[in-house]
Amino acid sequence: MSRKVIIAGNWKMNKTATEGKALVEELIPMVSDVTACEVVVCPTFTSLATVVEACKGTNVKVGAQNVHWAESGAFTGEISAEMLKEVGVEYVIIGHSERRQYFGETDATVNQRTKAALAAGLKPIVCIGELLEEREGEKTEEVLDRQVREGLVDLTEADLDNVVIAYEPVWAIGTGKTATPEMAQDTQAFVRSVVADMFGQSAADKMRIQYGGSMKPENSGELVAQEDIDGGLIGGAALKADSFAQLIKNAIG
Ligand code: PEP
Repeated sequence: MSRKVIIAGNWKMNKTATEGKALVEELIPMVSDVTACEVVVCPTFTSLATVVEACKGTNVKVGAQNVHWAESGAFTGEISAEMLKEVGVEYVIIGHSERRQYFGETDATVNQRTKAALAAGLKPIVCIGELLEEREGEKTEEVLDRQVREGLVDLTEADLDNVVIAYEPVWAIGTGKTATPEMAQDTQAFVRSVVADMFGQSAADKMRIQYGGSMKPENSGELVAQEDIDGGLIGGAALKADSFAQLIKNAIG
């Protein structure tokens, strides 16, 4: 089963619009010959329009970092899927561990956001991952099983064509600790088996599952070479054009 590799940079709360434009203007020529991988950058909301404009006509796609589930209304500070769609965004990260940890995100709200994104024609990157104590307490599979089932409940098999899962062990995010390729592979094969149980084997075979957690140019090749690792969600290494471009090139060999 061939799944197109997808590597997305999550800029988190970094880069003004001016800095974001400069980053993609440096990145675009570095990855213009990349065809074996979808390249996505996910700036802050205030940089989206500028970065979308700078990426027009190139192979660099743009994603947002969150979306609200309501179409409109009294939700101060929130952004709807339609607003993202209008600005030209293609992807949206949903349920990142930092949102779960600091902003009360739950599997239920991940599901609501995912459904709203799909309804507007956006492609959700749904983040899942276990905490260190859950890994050490041998609860990883239980946690991921729940996050996948509750995060993707009510979706159809057709919806899944537009969904990407990002498996990010929380203990590996921003810490410099990376899951070994074998550990990430075993865990992602498990995640795929949960998708198969919910939606059938052919949907699971098509589902792209990224790894995230201190992926960098030095380890992207061996991680993405694993059978069930179809790309990466990248934090720190996506903030500089040269490291992000090198990570992408090493990932696709
Ligand atoms: C992330 O925030 O999704 C992430 C994987 O960060 P880092 O690459 O910095 O660990």
